[in-house]
Amino acid sequence: MNIVEVEKLTKHYGQEDVVKQLSFALEKGTATALIGPNGAGKTTTLSMLADLLSPSSGTITLAENLTIGFLPQYPQFFPWLTALEFVEMAAKISGIETRKAKLQATRTLEFVGLETAMNKKTGAFSGGMKQRLGLAQAIVHQPKLLLLDEPISALDPTGRREIMDLLKSLQQDTTVLYSTHILNDAEEMTDQLLFMKDGCLIEQGSLSEVKNRHADPHIRIQFQNQTQALDFAKRQSWKSEVKESFVFLPVHE
Ligand code: ADP
Repeated sequence: MNIVEVEKLTKHYGQEDVVKQLSFALEKGTATALIGPNGAGKTTTLSMLADLLSPSSGTITLAENLTIGFLPQYPQFFPWLTALEFVEMAAKISGIETRKAKLQATRTLEFVGLETAMNKKTGAFSGGMKQRLGLAQAIVHQPKLLLLDEPISALDPTGRREIMDLLKSLQQDTTVLYSTHILNDAEEMTDQLLFMKDGCLIEQGSLSEVKNRHADPHIRIQFQNQTQALDFAKRQSWKSEVKESFVFLPVHE
């Protein structure tokens, strides 16, 4: 069952289309990675799904009573609040009754591994702790759809592993859509890949479908110049090749 259906979704700023005619669906209980280099349109797409930005055209159809959690790429915390106060506030904003908000916030902070930091002010949190806190505020109301904008790209390998494991342990019927510019983040936990480039969806399907569709065992992504191509390639653990301004990513083992 699809809980989200996106049809020809487009966003333009002035003359420039930054998201172009995207069509895809998210099935209940699945995890989808929105992959693409910086500037591809990932944040814009997630913001439209989170209802923080209106589309220029196209439609987003959500299942009835769908609750959404959103983790922005750069979440803002109030440094003078404790983690518990912050997540309790997020719980109330998400519609949890005041008398239940504290308990729910406490449980969520335990779930993300911040039980010992609950009463510390968020201003003193490390990057990894902030990422967990951001996740806590996004899931405190147990949303059915979780939208995560680059949730792990900025973390070291241990931090990524931990957040990946947390995401895997979410309730089975939670649908997750997360963006990343790092391909190997998408290799596990992901049922569907959506490759974006210059606002367009250039590939879509399960990892095996994407692999099978390519007789040429590479996905070719063109960048504006070689420096950008090298920079993108450098971040991947998949062995990629750079030729001029193109990155060739192997999609077969
Ligand atoms: P990504 O998340 O893949 O890095 P974004 O969705 O942030 O990509 O941006 C896609 C493109 O849209 C970029 O070229 C960016 O400069 C442009 N863009 C994003 N927000 C705005 C805005 N508010 N006004 C004008 N251009 C924007």
